[in-house]
This record gives sequence, C-alpha cells and structure tokens, in this order.
Amino acid sequence: MGRMLEQCFRLAQELLDAEQTSAPMPKVSPEKMMRELDLALPRQGRSEEEVFAQMREVLAFTPQTSNRRFFNQLFAGRVEMAGAAEVLSGLLNLSMYTFKVAGPHILIEHQLVRRMAALAGWPEGGGTFVPGGSMANLVGMILARNQAAPHFRDHGGEGQRLMVYMSAEGHYSVTKNAGMLGFGRHQVRHVRSDRQGRMDVQALEQAIGQDLAAGAIPCVVVATAGTTVRGAFDPLRAIAEVCERHQAWLHVDGALGGGLVLHPEWRAKLDGLELADSFTWDAHKAMGIPLICSAILVKRPELLAQNFRESADYLFQADSDHLNPGTKSIQCGRRNDAFKLWAAWQHLGDEGWAERIDRQVALAEYAANRLEQHPRIQLCEPPHSFTVCFEVAGKSSAEICDVLHQRGDAVIGYGRYEERYVLRLVTVNPLVSHDEIDRLIEKVDEVAAALPDHAPASSSAR
Ligand SMILES: *Cc1c(COP(=O)(O)O)cnc(C)c1O
Repeated sequence: MGRMLEQCFRLAQELLDAEQTSAPMPKVSPEKMMRELDLALPRQGRSEEEVFAQMREVLAFTPQTSNRRFFNQLFAGRVEMAGAAEVLSGLLNLSMYTFKVAGPHILIEHQLVRRMAALAGWPEGGGTFVPGGSMANLVGMILARNQAAPHFRDHGGEGQRLMVYMSAEGHYSVTKNAGMLGFGRHQVRHVRSDRQGRMDVQALEQAIGQDLAAGAIPCVVVATAGTTVRGAFDPLRAIAEVCERHQAWLHVDGALGGGLVLHPEWRAKLDGLELADSFTWDAHKAMGIPLICSAILVKRPELLAQNFRESADYLFQADSDHLNPGTKSIQCGRRNDAFKLWAAWQHLGDEGWAERIDRQVALAEYAANRLEQHPRIQLCEPPHSFTVCFEVAGKSSAEICDVLHQRGDAVIGYGRYEERYVLRLVTVNPLVSHDEIDRLIEKVDEVAAALPDHAPASSSAR
C-alpha cells in the first residue's frame, strides 16, 4: 500500500500542476475517448506500473473541476485541508453506522450536525450526513409525509392527496422525490416566483387554498435558499407564517446557499430559517468540500430515529442508539463525509468561512459589474449570491458554451432564466481571481461575435 501511495501522490502532483497550466479539459467525444483509452476489463490482472500508466491516461482526459477556467458547476476548486482529510477517510474505510466501527468519527459527525443545526437556529437540533442534497431533500420530505400521515410508514397511503409546494425555480429532486414517496409527481405545485426569482408567497397561499377546497392536504412546502440557476432566496419568514397557519411542514433546500448562515450579515438571506422544520445544506457546493458532503438538519432530531429505525440485531449491538447513527439513516453502510468538513473547519474556523463567503460573493459582484458595463453583453440581474446570469443578445447561449468548451477556453453552463436560456457563471472557486473573470468575458465576447445571429430568444433552447 505504501508503495502504491507514493505512485498515487506522484500522479496527484502531476494533476495539481496540470490544473495550473492546462485547459480544464476541452470537449472530447465519448467515441474518441473509447478509442484512445484502454478501458476494457482484462481477463488477466496487470502490473502495478501498467495500471498506474492507465490511470495517468484517464486523468489526462478527465475534466478538471479545480481548474481556474471551470465555471460550470455549483462546485469548483477545493478546500485543501478537506481534500487531504478525504484521502485519509478513503484509507480508513469506515462505515458510519455504529460507534463500534467508526469511533471518534461518530463524535465528529455529532459536533458538526449539532453546530450546523444551531447555526440554522435550532439549539436542540441535530441531523445526519446524507449522500447529497437530493437525498437530504428526500429525508426532509419523508419526515413531512409521516408527520401529516402518521400511518404512512407502517401501512402505506390511505388515499389522501398530500400536496408538495415549491417555487418554479426549485430543484428537480423535489419532484423526483415526490414520485418516489407516494405523493405522486403531479401533487407538486410549482408556485410562481417573482421577478427576483423568489417564491411568490401570495401565489403559495392561493395554491394551498385551492387544494384545501378540493379536499387535499397541504403537506410540505420546500423553500429554496439559493436557487440552482439564479441563486435566489425564497422569503422564509413569510413562507413559515403560511406553513404555520396550515400546519404544513417547512423544508428549506439550502443545497447552494445554506452555508451563508456562517456569515454574520449574509445570514439575513435565510431570515426565518429557525421557523422551519428541516434544512438541506450541501458543504460540497459553495463551501468547497470534496463531493459528497451534505447534511439534513432537523429542528426535532428525535424524528429521525422515529422514522428510520429498524431493528438489526446483528449490527446495532453495542452502545446507545445515540451513538449508532445507522438507526436514523436511509442507508446501512454509510461513507464518512464528516471528517473532511471537520478538518476544513478546524483549519478555517468560523472566521475563515465568513471570509471565504465574502470573497466568493465579491467575485460574483465583480463579474456583474464588468458585464453591466460591457457594450455587447447583458447582465440579466444583479447576482443574489454565487451565480451570475448573462447573455449576448441574438446569440445562442448553448452555442457559446459549446464553443468555449471546444476551444478549451472555459467550461461554463447555461440555464433557464424567465423564458430563455442564458449563460450562468458560478463563482464558488476560491482560486479564481479577477483576471480569470476578465478573460472569460473577453472570450465570451469573441466567441459570440463569430457566431451567426440566432432566432428570437424563446426558441434559443438547444
Ligand atoms: C444542487 C442542488 C440540489 C441537489 O444537490 P446534490 O447534492 O447535487 O444532490 C438540491 N437543491 C438545490 C437548490 C441545488 O442547487
């Protein structure tokens, strides 16, 4: 193992060097990759050297999400201490279901979820790490469903229509989860959002009123704290008031913006969060922890065990349930996603997180200012947090993205803004400086100028 690790670290060093100098991996077709890479599984094992040589080739074709020209995803760049701890987690290979096999890592996870819940405004709260924001939303929706329909867990649905509400800008996982949980995808109301991309609370109230009149039960409102494309924040306090009146569960999807509770001023974007029941917080997005690092946090932590506990006498043998988080998770075996976040938090402290947020938000503001002054590019709206939406009038955003990718200039995506597709720049990578933003804007301008004019906006879908 020691020898392999040495080789592994040599490869890692090459990767770090390449990230500094090369393009973030130009667009290569899967056919070309299949031709150039030796991916088939062999009958006979190969030598260490051969496998490392193969891995080196795979790395050469791998998108570099920590490259300074990678702006495509809600994650990019890395918090170095977390990356180092993740290597150790891989070697430790724990499963986070019992104290017996995970020891201090269970206590570390407790520290984290308690602290994160307290930051949400729940001093008695708790939670658990889950494999991603979609799964955190799933857990929140299960709790909501079982609160509204206590028989559901044991007996299944009894024919009531349980309704789910989220804004039109909410994440697709909510609809998918509704399909998996017996709500039914068609029981999700996509509530209109306002010009700023925030849920329209009056429209929510109306939708609930209509559903009640039709005999359905308003079960859960999923409010978004940092929408996926625009980075907008739903008005939590006003939504909580509506939920309270109708006894609906309030789940806050903070996959993107949840970390803002670490900042004394930006926290105001999530004003009213303490009135919610559950909260999704991805540390692998704006906080730069390697994927996956997500928590579901709940105001009343006892609900997790009540809704997920099963007896497994071969597994939960020693220690109290409190120390065996397997009694409150969907999974049996569960990765250790806590250690890397804990190590990063040790290194940065609360102050370091706040500085990081300041920096990344300032980067979005810098980009917005540059775009606003640009003669040929239009900023769609002032940024709400870590994403900046912009477009070039008469040009296809999708084509601009494709050409930038093809040329190795930048990897950036596009998303739906009102009725059209626009470019979306994500500013979560701490390695990105003003220079890279300036360069990106120059390249967008250059590429757009060379593209033919495009049909009117509404048909600019690919
Ligand atoms: C990314 C995202 C999710 C999904 O999180 P994963 O960790 O990718 O599963 C959910 N909600 C919002 C608002 C997101 O931006």
